[in-house]
Amino acid sequence: MARNVKCPECGTFNDKENAIYHNSKYYCKVCYDNKMRESQDYKDLIAYICELYEIDAPTGWMLKQIKDFKEQFHYTYRGMKTTLNFFYEIQEGHDTADSMGIGIIPFVYDDAKKFYVDKKAVKDSVTEVSLENIASNKRIIKVKRGKESENLYKDIAFIDIGKL
Ligand SMILES: [Zn+2]
Repeated sequence: MARNVKCPECGTFNDKENAIYHNSKYYCKVCYDNKMRESQDYKDLIAYICELYEIDAPTGWMLKQIKDFKEQFHYTYRGMKTTLNFFYEIQEGHDTADSMGIGIIPFVYDDAKKFYVDKKAVKDSVTEVSLENIASNKRIIKVKRGKESENLYKDIAFIDIGKL
C-alpha cells in the first residue's frame, strides 16, 4: 500500500519515501528546495540591509515592511535585495541616512527589474556575439536578437528579478 503525503506548498501527493520531512510536514523535493533557497535569500536580504544601513539588526519596522511587501506585492526576498542594491548602490545620489525604512522598494522595484533585465539582455547578447563569430550568417542572428528584446519588454511583468 502506497503511503502518500500531501505537500503543504503545492498540494501534490507524493510517496512518503520520496518526500522531505521538515517542520513536521512532508514537502515535495521542488517545494523543499524552493523553501530552502527562500530562507537563504531572506538571510542574505537581512545581512545586506545591515550592511547598507550600517546597523546590527533590521528594525522591527523594516521586518514588517519585508513581510508586507512579500505578502501584498509578492516580491521575493532576492528581488528586494536587488532593488535596494539598485537604488542605493547603482543609482547615484541616494543615501540610506535619508530613509527610515526600506519603503523605497515598491517605488523602484520595477525600475530595478528593468535595469537587470536589460543587463541580462546585454550579457546574453554578448554570449550570442561569440556564437555569431562561429556562425557564418551574422544577419539572421541579429534580426532574431532584435525580436527577442521586443518580447523581453512585453514579458517584463512576468519576470521575477529574483530569478535573473
Ligand atoms: Zn510541493
